Amino acid sequence: MLGTGAAFVDPDRAQSGILVTLDNGRHYLFDCGAGITRNMVRANVSPADVTAVFLTHMHHDHICDFPLFVITGWMWDRPDAPVVIGPRGTQHFVSHLFEGGAFKSDFEARSSYPRRQKNLQAVRPKVIEASPGVAYEDEHVRIVCDWVEHIPRDISECFGVRLEAEGKAVAFSGDTAACESMVKLAKDADLLIHECTFPESFIEHRRKTGVGTFAHTSPTELGQIAARAGVKRLVPTHFGHFESTHPLIRKVATHHFPVEQMGPHLMDEVVRDIRRHYQGPMQIASDLLRIDV
Ligand SMILES: [Zn+2]
Ligand SMILES: [Zn+2]
Repeated sequence: MLGTGAAFVDPDRAQSGILVTLDNGRHYLFDCGAGITRNMVRANVSPADVTAVFLTHMHHDHICDFPLFVITGWMWDRPDAPVVIGPRGTQHFVSHLFEGGAFKSDFEARSSYPRRQKNLQAVRPKVIEASPGVAYEDEHVRIVCDWVEHIPRDISECFGVRLEAEGKAVAFSGDTAACESMVKLAKDADLLIHECTFPESFIEHRRKTGVGTFAHTSPTELGQIAARAGVKRLVPTHFGHFESTHPLIRKVATHHFPVEQMGPHLMDEVVRDIRRHYQGPMQIASDLLRIDV
């Protein structure tokens, strides 16, 4: 788990990012929010060695480290183009980053060095805009995706995914309200990594105040999904700062959450609510947590 937080910049958690490493050493990244590239390096994995990146949706906490990930791979002699799989709009996002895009000056400066000219393909990602079904396949993995329910689909498609490799299956929800497609994607999976952004009371608060999306899965619903899918292990993630004791996070949260309720004790409540329906092995995600499947 490279990042286990949500939309705020949080001193205790990077944003969304999961690195899957196969026994043969191949790496596949799911989401690339703030802090993911740095945490990848802390986990001793080079961005230059990641085969493919799947972006579940275009919210900033899932994509904003992507330029850093790509430029770092370029500087670190990545010989090939990274593959990027994502929803409709991924091509637009990627095309506006490097040559002629937001990092145009960086590209022009850096590409004047002969060594950087040798691997320009590293900043020319191969984009696959996915549709529900098999989104990506190589000789090592198969990645299947389906729509989940988080943002209106005409603004951004949001995907949940299932990765199959080495006879195992790992499912990841991206961001979503409780939905049937995640039960299907996670069916009998060895590991389900699922968003669990807010405790029940916070979802209710956001529903009433209209401050932001509440299209997230409540802990009780997550327990139901994990039980119905029959997953062998559950890792709840994408925690929406509700447990934070950091003074700045608590200050800026005033108009987002019921601040007086915030604190680490809420994680106990989250676990209790998941356990209403799911009794299998479970680990609460934290940054740099490694799970062997
Ligand atoms: Zn998110
Ligand atoms: Zn989101």
